[in-house]
Amino acid sequence: MAKKQFKAESKRLLDLMIHSIYTHKEIFLRELISNSSDAIDKLYYRSLTENTTGISREDFEIRIALDKNNRTLTISDNGIGMTKEELESNLGTIARSGSLDFKKENEQKEDIDIIGQFGVGFYSAFMVSSVVTVISKAYGGEQAYRWESTGTEGYTITEWEKEHCGTQIILKIKEDTEDEKYEEFLQEYRIRGLIKRYSDYIRYPIKMNVEQRRAKEGVENEYETVIEEQILNSMIPIWRRNKSDITGEDYNDFYQEKFYDFTNPLKVIHSNVEGVVSYNSLLYIPAKTPHNYYTKEYEKGLQLYSSGVLIMDKCPDLLPDYFGFVKGLVDSQDLSLNISREMLQHDRQLKAIASRLEKKIKSELLEIMNTEREKYDEFFGNFGLQLKFGIYDKFGANKDSLKDLILFYSSTEKKLASLSEYVSRMKLDQKYIYYATGESVEKIDKLPQTEVLKDKGFEILYLTDDIDEFAIRILHDFDSKEFKSVSGDDLGFEEDEKDMDAVKKETENNKELFDFMKEALSGKVSEVRLSQRLKSHPVCLASGGGISIEMEKILNAMPSDDKIKADKVLEINASHPVLGAIKSAFASDKEKAKQYTELLYNQALLIEGLSIEDPVAFSNAICNLIAAN
Ligand code: ADP
Repeated sequence: MAKKQFKAESKRLLDLMIHSIYTHKEIFLRELISNSSDAIDKLYYRSLTENTTGISREDFEIRIALDKNNRTLTISDNGIGMTKEELESNLGTIARSGSLDFKKENEQKEDIDIIGQFGVGFYSAFMVSSVVTVISKAYGGEQAYRWESTGTEGYTITEWEKEHCGTQIILKIKEDTEDEKYEEFLQEYRIRGLIKRYSDYIRYPIKMNVEQRRAKEGVENEYETVIEEQILNSMIPIWRRNKSDITGEDYNDFYQEKFYDFTNPLKVIHSNVEGVVSYNSLLYIPAKTPHNYYTKEYEKGLQLYSSGVLIMDKCPDLLPDYFGFVKGLVDSQDLSLNISREMLQHDRQLKAIASRLEKKIKSELLEIMNTEREKYDEFFGNFGLQLKFGIYDKFGANKDSLKDLILFYSSTEKKLASLSEYVSRMKLDQKYIYYATGESVEKIDKLPQTEVLKDKGFEILYLTDDIDEFAIRILHDFDSKEFKSVSGDDLGFEEDEKDMDAVKKETENNKELFDFMKEALSGKVSEVRLSQRLKSHPVCLASGGGISIEMEKILNAMPSDDKIKADKVLEINASHPVLGAIKSAFASDKEKAKQYTELLYNQALLIEGLSIEDPVAFSNAICNLIAAN
């Protein structure tokens, strides 16, 4: 019989599994049991929605059998089973499409990451088995099939005999080696322990024949060993249990098992809600950003159960996009089993649940912010970008629910600050919330535009993500305090109005010079003027309103033919000697004045992190200046 090869990517993953340095080999059992449980869920769901008679919930079970002599561990279920094609496609390739891309990017990363990130499920069987045999008969199918593989060599599929639908997985447990122990997976106590730990909540009975020693009937002091069938799991889903009966470890184990994460979650939110809508929800905030989180591949959503029966694996309508990182599940008896995806979207109960969940997530996040700040900063590092997108998205429709949750780097605190923290620290004579934009905190910190504000002791928020200024613009204000860019038209210092007037007047006095300079820059700036914001630096660019210079950079980096232009204003420091130099050049040598203007403009561009049109000409001009001295 010809062996079929695994798809290339599966082969690599299998290789990883077989030679894995992964220490948690034991997880293979929970993976296989969870597959069985899913398969039963599918059949049960079908029996309910198709009104199939003859299938009763009580009939479903998962069985574990140990055979020490043959070194086999068998896991059987009477779920939906697999057709020949399904055996091929489900067990011959990796279902999760993201996994290969991920591997390519992270070749050097440790193996455990990939196992953790994808819960490569079925494949984990190869961590402990030398041969894996799967016998399966699909529900409604005529013929059963047997799939077998020793690992990377490929697999075979043959016709087989099996009476009822379902799947049986037979693992030939590896022999112990000096470094690795496998024998334990043939021990009854070990298997019981693993099921209690990882699979206790599985809603179908996990049965195993266990050896029991008991007193011989009628004979004193004599014992006998009998084989007795036992149910090893309590079958009560964790989300239905009393919070007080659940340990942190229970929550974490369940999370890792269910949501394919290798790290414990940052936060667990378990609610039992009774009222107009009743539901149990168990939500988790991951501690790390899933590797594909900020890509199109990532699918948000919560598992949705109706009275304990899974009806949708990833219900997107339960979470707003900006909380798309939340994982978890909702179980409600108020939802009909027979509901279609389209109908769900408009379901009133579901909407009510979603809105409660959203409020709950927000309040929990605020709670973390207020009580465990470091943890919140960590969370924000992972998902803050998403929250800021949330503010900007839908023309700011959600800004009110999100504005309390965002953080920006603070110039005075040298760490992340919330907007309310900023406002609480505002100086008496400060009217606005100031922000500066740039590539990094270090670069922004050096911007000439920040000088005057720092001098006054005003705090500045440093905006380093592309989305930041867009979000801030949509927010417009916080606590009735408007946002103001340090590069904006006017810094809005009230009590300095006289000084400002003086600057304006001085600009007016030099109108001829500034008009000449503007002309010399042929349309690149809308205005040249004296600066209100510079103290020691000679020049800077300001934004004339509308699109800011930072926004221009971001928008033009996006693929589009239309290039966007910010309204740029060239500002000169009135108390810097360059002004005198350019004035005298203007009086005596127009060509020189033009050259100075271009130099100043190019320098201002460089400070902003913008590129200059002709770097060679710029460099030559500077060298000429040096040589002239
Ligand atoms: P996952 O369960 O994460 O999708 P697996 O590698 O564990 O990935 O399994 C791949 C697929 O094989 C499953 O999605 C399911 O369709 C099928 N499968 C695995 N085990 C069973 C089973 N016991 N009964 C029916 N189908 C199964």
